[in-house]
Amino acid sequence: MSAPRLEIDLDKIEHNARSLVARLADRGISVTAVTKAALGSPEIARSLLQAGASGLGDSRIENIEAMCHANVPASMTLIRSPMLSQVERLVTHVEVSFNTELDVIRKISFCAQKARRTHGVVLMVELGDLREGIMPGELENAVRQTLRFPYIAFKGIGTNLACRSGVSPDARNMAELSTLAESIEAKFGLTIEVISGGNSANVPWALSGADTGRINNLRLGESILLGREPLHRQRINGLHTDAITLIAEVIESKVKPTQPWGEIGQTAFGAKPPTQDRGDICQAILAIGLQDTDACGLEPPPDIKIVGASSDHLIVESGLHLVPVGTELTFQLNYSALVRLMTSPFVTKVISPKIGLPDATLRTRETGRAFFDA
Ligand SMILES: *Cc1c(COP(=O)(O)O)cnc(C)c1O
Repeated sequence: MSAPRLEIDLDKIEHNARSLVARLADRGISVTAVTKAALGSPEIARSLLQAGASGLGDSRIENIEAMCHANVPASMTLIRSPMLSQVERLVTHVEVSFNTELDVIRKISFCAQKARRTHGVVLMVELGDLREGIMPGELENAVRQTLRFPYIAFKGIGTNLACRSGVSPDARNMAELSTLAESIEAKFGLTIEVISGGNSANVPWALSGADTGRINNLRLGESILLGREPLHRQRINGLHTDAITLIAEVIESKVKPTQPWGEIGQTAFGAKPPTQDRGDICQAILAIGLQDTDACGLEPPPDIKIVGASSDHLIVESGLHLVPVGTELTFQLNYSALVRLMTSPFVTKVISPKIGLPDATLRTRETGRAFFDA
């Protein structure tokens, strides 16, 4: 089978999603499954829906379009503020988008009118992570303006933490979102449909038994695909952390010194060259590189240690034994490694069938591009 490849176990993904959907339903919270790290794969999307996700969210309109073309039956939300230049595409395929700019919402209303439809808007609120969001003091005015646009349906409010600055979702900032929702409802005499508290970083808070207040939705990607919460990268109880793994192939295996020789300048990617002399070691090179992934986000098999990487080469130490050329090694992934691997056209995506399907062979997707051609 071709390498490098991502092996994607749909049953494990579905298990993770089902478990989170059930546990959060107990707390009155629905799950929008986020497909951006799955590059909008229709197969993964279908598993997420099968597991009970109430809808799908993606930050890239291309991914949403790919899922629509594959007839994935879900309500789709664009979870990154739309570009003004993409608003016409937006209203065609997407029912709801997250927004923070009135100029964008105005154009959405205009384009929605031309397309004879209405578009749902969730207003994102800044609660400290300093990425997207309307400042809390300006929310009321933004809602007032949004309600005036004729082809816009005001769907609700949301926030996003733990992405740019690592701010943890907690009782205080989540209560603030609930309070904002209630004051908007009181001010405008309406009931807010969606109060979206955040991403996978909210899972520990949501499952801690804390009062979840008015929060009734989370948008989950990493916790479903990798079984971990992003704040401390701890495994979430009962979830698989190996639903998606990377297989890469050894192309060189030699005993080499640990110390480079010659005049030392910068490396290809600016990293420091090794400085500690530990004599000779067994070194192997795998045919995968920084063009395809984040080497810091790969966890090698036992007894293998990652010691360097460049665009097309991953260099590992293999303990006391040389690993034969042609050997395939399996790596566990973090989110940063996963998103790049999914996006790399050089990495084959192999999606394992659901147990019980008559076709027991693996269905292969040749490249990332194939998702879009589907
Ligand atoms: C990526 C993203 C998510 C999902 O984040 P995970 O940590 O993968 O769960 C949710 N909301 C927004 C706005 C995002 O950009």
